[in-house]
Amino acid sequence: MHDSFVHKGKRKILVDYLRNKIGISDENVLSAMNIVPRHLFIESIFEDYAYEDRAFPILAHQTISHPSTVAEQSELLMVQPGDKILEIGTGCGYQTAVLIALKGLVYTVERQKDLFDYSKNKLRELNMYPKFQSFGDGFAGLPTFAPFDKVIVTCGASVLPVELLKQLKVGGIMVIPLGPTDEQVLYRFTKISPTEIEKEEFGAYKFVPMLGSTNQ
Ligand code: SAH
Repeated sequence: MHDSFVHKGKRKILVDYLRNKIGISDENVLSAMNIVPRHLFIESIFEDYAYEDRAFPILAHQTISHPSTVAEQSELLMVQPGDKILEIGTGCGYQTAVLIALKGLVYTVERQKDLFDYSKNKLRELNMYPKFQSFGDGFAGLPTFAPFDKVIVTCGASVLPVELLKQLKVGGIMVIPLGPTDEQVLYRFTKISPTEIEKEEFGAYKFVPMLGSTNQ
């Protein structure tokens, strides 16, 4: 597979849909999504549908999120060039690539070895380099690299992972879906001061669950 003019054309239509139908207004997010070739992150059997607003199965019974979800999470994160971003749930690496296209310095964690390996190879193939890719349990965050300007969680947590909030800078933002396995609510937490957190709510979503240690 390569990135043909047909793919580029479909991507442009997807970006127009994200702008006009989903209401994404951050032009940096829209242009990042116009740059990253989503069809190269998924299995070739889904290639023709890669630029529809659909989720697809990836390795280890996980899913690549809908493009609209990736766009919304990215917009809520308000990425500034050079932001240090902690991402929990690398998956196939698509959201990681969008954050890199937004000029974020991305530290990403994945608990499935197959996906850790897959995303590492895929991102390298596309010349997109996260600062650090870790195989492990995202509940612990990455204390050695903390604090972060931004934290994004791409799996649904049943409880708030407090460690991740601790690793956020004052003024930092964390975007995370919280709730039971069948449905979560997307939240944005802003760390106003070392002890004060502002919480905003952004509707219902269905993410794969955030699981514990790597041997489940
Ligand atoms: N952004 C990804 C979405 C993948 S789905 C993409 O674009 O493909 C969410 C991912 O979170 C899955 O790969 C899952 O294995 C991972 N995950 C679940 N619990 C985790 C945890 N505790 N730590 C790190 N990753 C986790």
